[in-house]
Amino acid sequence: MTATSWLDLPADHPFGIHHLPYGIFSTATDPGRRVGVRIGDLVLDASRASISAGYAAGGVWSAPSLNPFLGQGSIAWAAGRAWLTEVLSDPAYRSVIERHLLPLDAVTLHLPIEVGDYVDYYASAHHASNVGKIFRPDSPALPVNWKHLPIGYHGRSGTVVVSGTDFHRPSGQRKGPQDPAPVFGPSVRLDIEAELGYVVGGATTMGERVSVDEAGEHVFGVVILNDWSARDIQAWEYVPLGPYLGKSFCTSISAWVTPMVALEAARIDLPREEGDPEVLPYLRGTGTGAQGSGGTAYGLDVHLQVSVNGTVVTRPDYRDMYWSPAQMLAHMTVNGASIRDGDLFGSGTISGPDKGQRGSFLELAWGGAEPFELADGSPRTYLQDGDEVVMTAWAPGPDGSRIGLGEVSGRVLPTR
Ligand code: MN
Repeated sequence: MTATSWLDLPADHPFGIHHLPYGIFSTATDPGRRVGVRIGDLVLDASRASISAGYAAGGVWSAPSLNPFLGQGSIAWAAGRAWLTEVLSDPAYRSVIERHLLPLDAVTLHLPIEVGDYVDYYASAHHASNVGKIFRPDSPALPVNWKHLPIGYHGRSGTVVVSGTDFHRPSGQRKGPQDPAPVFGPSVRLDIEAELGYVVGGATTMGERVSVDEAGEHVFGVVILNDWSARDIQAWEYVPLGPYLGKSFCTSISAWVTPMVALEAARIDLPREEGDPEVLPYLRGTGTGAQGSGGTAYGLDVHLQVSVNGTVVTRPDYRDMYWSPAQMLAHMTVNGASIRDGDLFGSGTISGPDKGQRGSFLELAWGGAEPFELADGSPRTYLQDGDEVVMTAWAPGPDGSRIGLGEVSGRVLPTR
């Protein structure tokens, strides 16, 4: 039987009973940070509600981040979600639970996790080949390793911020191909990257691997992630060790973490074509074909939208991503690297085959050669000071419902 809430939400509400994302909140009168669960346009104070209803396992929700809950592992995650679904569905709980529901505009949302290690991948073939054509026009569009392993790099966890956090334009070194020498100054090619971010729990010890089949016990949930990128700093510094200061100044994530189980109806096969290589056995799971798609290595039918100062500039589809989150986690740990509660990994920029699906300004304006226009007529190749970027996303839920991921926003402030 399908659960319905006594809150009587429209069946297509993006934060209905099938969603129940977790966040961290406080209020003006009660400033202690604690776990909240969004339903409709309300936030359930999960900590206080669990005390009132006598759910002892909810003690973990009084923490100022999701990390202790993440540390309990997937059995506790399922139990917590089952309890939340029950108390928000069964009218018998209404009198106990209803007073712990707060209007969304009465709460302040905070960074939901204490970010452990942060990795960013590169899983869109369309993005990777667009970047290849722009940055390396004389080389093959896709690197030779690209279809054999999910390419990634370690980022800076301390500058991951919650939606709504503004940041200053970074300064750094840059040198164009024609410049005689590098110069220092504010980035003149500040960009976005529309991505999903995966939140990890159930810590492991060094030497242990997490297989594709086991990844579901460790990937807790998903956020929208904006990997702000300074292309001029990146282009000059990235050979041979990869992205560094061009990306480490700020990474924004949404305040609501959507549990992976809420996206079961959005699971799809990964895109594979005739001629794609077989992947090594550690990148296959049960029910996975030679090319590494199927079974536990699934993709997601998530639709994103990116707006700049209110103008929608692109609509990337996550369904085009080549590597599954399960494969990314298996790859990350195959050398024995441990995972920590609160680890975060980004999918890489999401770009589709069409121009209107490109997930970065670099691609939308093709390296600066093809400016695009906002609704007020002003042209853009890269971000200007004062620009506000908002990313939203939705996915199909069960029984024709919709799951709307929490949005991620941020504004560019002038260089300090
Ligand atoms: Mn990225």
